[in-house]
Amino acid sequence: MQYNAYAAYEAKANLKPFNYTPGELGENEIEVKISHCGICHSDIHLINNDWMVSQYPLVPGHEIVGNISAMGKNVKGFREGDRVGIGWQCGSCGECYLCTTEQENLCGKSVATCNGHHGGYADYVRSDANFVIHIPDALGSSEAAPLLCGGITVFAPLDRHGIKAGMKIGIFGIGGLGHMAVQFASKMGAETYALSSSPDKVKEAASLGAAGFINMRDKSEVFRHLGSFDYILSTISADYDWNTIISLLKHNATLCYVGAAPSPVAIHAFTFISKQINVTGSAIGSPSRIKKMLEFAAKHDVKAMVETVPMSDVNNALTRVAENKVRYRMVLAQ
Ligand code: NAP
Ligand code: ZN
Repeated sequence: MQYNAYAAYEAKANLKPFNYTPGELGENEIEVKISHCGICHSDIHLINNDWMVSQYPLVPGHEIVGNISAMGKNVKGFREGDRVGIGWQCGSCGECYLCTTEQENLCGKSVATCNGHHGGYADYVRSDANFVIHIPDALGSSEAAPLLCGGITVFAPLDRHGIKAGMKIGIFGIGGLGHMAVQFASKMGAETYALSSSPDKVKEAASLGAAGFINMRDKSEVFRHLGSFDYILSTISADYDWNTIISLLKHNATLCYVGAAPSPVAIHAFTFISKQINVTGSAIGSPSRIKKMLEFAAKHDVKAMVETVPMSDVNNALTRVAENKVRYRMVLAQ
């Protein structure tokens, strides 16, 4: 059987049709017939080789929802036809300290769904069963797909860092990740601000649960909130003057990076020293936390705002994401 996909054949190229024969299904693997796949900005970084790790031909796509079409003989807990999702990670060693303490996302032998392995801009995809997650019935497929990478990437640090009522939280960058982060943080009870360079997003940010909006291009707005935030989650995909973000934080507050800005973060050490700022990062999330995130999303009605287009429109869809025109996640449908 052949899988029909879209691939970048070289860095920065438009995607073109690409067929491949996947070989025999592994004993612990699941094959999924894809119905929906979100476009994460990481797909664009990979297509462009921004991180210098891309392997071509590259079939992007790691926010996948579909139905199980085949299973290896050792797979337990699933049935053919089950509606499931797959995110950024589709394998790990399963044996190391990290894999055995529900931190598989940090395993040194992690397998990425769409680099060195063909991803979800396709009709079928495969994954180790440990990284295949049932989708709760309350979540529609196109709205759930972006939760599999964007959703877990923002939920995991907010959950791990104990975001709760009484805290003032900033979500920097209201794109695919950011618009889900606003929903999660506000549903966790925090006073959540959208920190954005796009003032036209103000109404939607409020509808997502934001208590306030700071136009980061307006110095007087930034000035009004100096030293007032307990925690800022940065989701932006571009470089920025990080001193401005740190100036918004209180003493002993935390800045957490999930957005992968291309250049090194250059900040004078004294900036952290003087306010005892914690700076940290967070990488996707483990399968157990993905399950927790999906349950939280189903219970609290957190869902991605999506524009759904046929998969054959993939190149136009990628351009709209790259130009920051999507409100807020582009999803490809088969
Ligand atoms: P996205 O949908 O394109 O959103 C990025 C947002 O960043 C934009 O909507 C925009 O928000 C802001 N932005 C873009 N250019 C900017 C600029 N020049 N200056 C200031 N703000 C700018 O991207 P995404 O899919 O959410 O992904 C965001 C980043 O997270 C990417 O770098 C991606 O690779 C990374 N990521 C990391 C992980 C992880 O495990 N850590 C997982 C998934 C994705 P405003 O319009 O509100 O300013
Ligand atoms: Zn992603």
